[in-house]
Amino acid sequence: MPIHFSCTMCGRCCHDLRLPLAIDEALDWIARGGEVQLFCDAIVWPQEPQQTDLLAQHRKRRSFAAHSGRLPVRVTVTLVAAFDGPCPNLRPDMSCGAYDRRPRVCRIYPAEVNPFLKLDPAAKACPADAWSDAGPVLVHAGQIANADTAALIAQSHEADERDRVAKAHLCALLGYDSAALANEGFAVYAPSRHRLEAALRAARESGAQFDHLQPRSSLPWHIITNRSTSLATLRSIGANARQAEDRFRPAEAPAYLGFFDEDISDSDRRN
Ligand code: SF4
Ligand code: SF4
Repeated sequence: MPIHFSCTMCGRCCHDLRLPLAIDEALDWIARGGEVQLFCDAIVWPQEPQQTDLLAQHRKRRSFAAHSGRLPVRVTVTLVAAFDGPCPNLRPDMSCGAYDRRPRVCRIYPAEVNPFLKLDPAAKACPADAWSDAGPVLVHAGQIANADTAALIAQSHEADERDRVAKAHLCALLGYDSAALANEGFAVYAPSRHRLEAALRAARESGAQFDHLQPRSSLPWHIITNRSTSLATLRSIGANARQAEDRFRPAEAPAYLGFFDEDISDSDRRN
């Protein structure tokens, strides 16, 4: 069944967002007065995946290699424009005040950037009339049918691959060395706008010195989790793992955005 779509300009999708940005987009967002955070997660990477493992290859293209303790990992850093309530660019008439410079992800919505996610209209903010059969076809036979949207998604994947070298350097410049265990949450760093802008510019310019085919971080990474079984498993296989701790978090430590309730026991805390 084809999925038809036509934007009604309702503005619902421009509230309470965590918008993923490419480095150029993040610099543009900061220049407009917006805040950008770093969402970091890491996955254990004992060996290189087969070419046929499309999910692992997708993650590899978005991440850089690193070590946590004696464990090889891949770290994914996502630059995120974060805001609660309306987007700072949203006008009272629900039009976008930065329309010509809006992030790529805004142009792609409601289609999915992640190739492993199927577009589910019920999961989107768009009202029912946006999906009327009178609109143009957005998805046909599971594929994006709109050429502009397909091109934007491809550009987004290219930017992810291109930016990962500079992101490894960015973390080194900022001293950010903690990531949540992938699929459990994110370690969230919120540097000041000025500090992040300077580091982003430096990382982008010096990124050319790094190996673009094998992006790697020389930092000793920590993996943080709020689950006791993950903590025990990570430690048992040699990772430098620690519990997420928001109550006594040092100022420079990241916040933890978990997908699961905390279940770390007091004895885990003492270890
Ligand atoms: S940049 Fe524009 S399109 Fe994107 S969330 Fe903000 S108001 Fe909406
Ligand atoms: S929620 Fe959907 S219909 Fe409404 S402005 Fe966003 S993309 Fe358009």
